[in-house]
Amino acid sequence: MALLHILRFPDPRLRLVSAPVSVVDETIRQLIDDMLETMYAAPGIGLAAPQVDVAQRVVVVDASPEGDAPVCLVNPEIISREGVEIMEEGCLSVPGFHENVERASRIKVRALDREGQPFELEAEGLLAVCIQHEIDHLDGKLFVDYLSEIKRKRIQKKMEKQRRFSM
Ligand code: ZN
Repeated sequence: MALLHILRFPDPRLRLVSAPVSVVDETIRQLIDDMLETMYAAPGIGLAAPQVDVAQRVVVVDASPEGDAPVCLVNPEIISREGVEIMEEGCLSVPGFHENVERASRIKVRALDREGQPFELEAEGLLAVCIQHEIDHLDGKLFVDYLSEIKRKRIQKKMEKQRRFSM
């Protein structure tokens, strides 16, 4: 396993639309394992492949209190949404910033698992929010896109400043 480098906003690679995974093979399983290790080490509760510079539709999440319930979703699709939930979100690609975002409170998602088998998952609360946040990454969308332009620009300026000073 290996820790992967996480891209930071406003890196243009975070804006790519990721391609569906055609076969869940050893390469994808290795990616999933590395993404989980990277997510737990960060620490974070979700990570999408484009955040580690792999433009493929792979997401890992673990919204459990103990951090012992990893879920990996390959080619995830939200097939139903209900309700409204406003939660303060952050992102490993936008470290240090947290803002309220409105999303569906309950979702049903269809995906392939680590073995390439199709499954469906019903999620609510934090897990539902986290999955929606990560699936957005696959479409090149970030949580800052839900904020006002003024707020987003302010965050972008601060992130660019941070980048100039990191060595
Ligand atoms: Zn994120």
